[in-house]
Amino acid sequence: MSLLTDWATDSGEVLLHFSDSAMAVLRAHVQTGQRPEAGGILLGTVHDHGMLITHATAPSWFDQQFPFFFSRSPLGHRAVAQRLWSASGGTTRYLGDWHTHPEDIPSPSGIDLREWQKLAIARNDNRPALSVIVGRHALHVELMHSNGKRDQLASVV
Ligand SMILES: [Zn+2]
Repeated sequence: MSLLTDWATDSGEVLLHFSDSAMAVLRAHVQTGQRPEAGGILLGTVHDHGMLITHATAPSWFDQQFPFFFSRSPLGHRAVAQRLWSASGGTTRYLGDWHTHPEDIPSPSGIDLREWQKLAIARNDNRPALSVIVGRHALHVELMHSNGKRDQLASVV
């Protein structure tokens, strides 16, 4: 099983790279066997033509780094994003969300699409929401805009 680390929109306007540590978190939660669904947020830096995903949070990551968070409520995630944003002098920011599907090649459900659009609308920086689904054999990566427009990214080898 190999989840690829480099992605781009069709136009090539947006390039996206997952750091090794972010990818390790996603790989650790691939839904094989009896593993439950998992999810978290994606944090990183934004550049002229792309994004570098430096952190993917997961419950264990919270437990280690932030022992006072016991739930994975959206509020807790946002608090972590705020903390990293401050600690990095405003360079590391919240980019979007990830969750797992028990599918080989994952595709978003109707609920996923509605949730992603809500997240995009809720942003105050007008950026699209980065939305990642971790399947058993591949990732699904897209940018959801607040108007519902979707930009799917394809892996770049
Ligand atoms: Zn889903």
